[in-house]
Amino acid sequence: MPTEREISILRRKCFACGKCRVVCPSFAEGGCDPMEIMVGGECDVSLCTECGKCSEVCRRTDPFTVMKYMKGNL
Ligand code: SF4
Ligand code: SF4
Repeated sequence: MPTEREISILRRKCFACGKCRVVCPSFAEGGCDPMEIMVGGECDVSLCTECGKCSEVCRRTDPFTVMKYMKGNL
């Protein structure tokens, strides 16, 4: 399980390009927004289906790990 510090580092690496948001099936249906979580905002992370697409497109950091951590699934 990653530490809070490790999660914080993953978040800081995000430069808000929005790629994860574009591919997120949950966001497309009005659910959670992985970029919002990465930049320190809020959304209902329980709506994340854990498909992993956000991290497949991210070349800077690992939003999928952060989403799972926020859900308490790590
Ligand atoms: S987590 Fe990655 S893909 Fe998503 S906005 Fe940040 S840098 Fe871009
Ligand atoms: S893992 Fe969650 S946040 Fe990432 S793309 Fe899938 S539904 Fe969206």
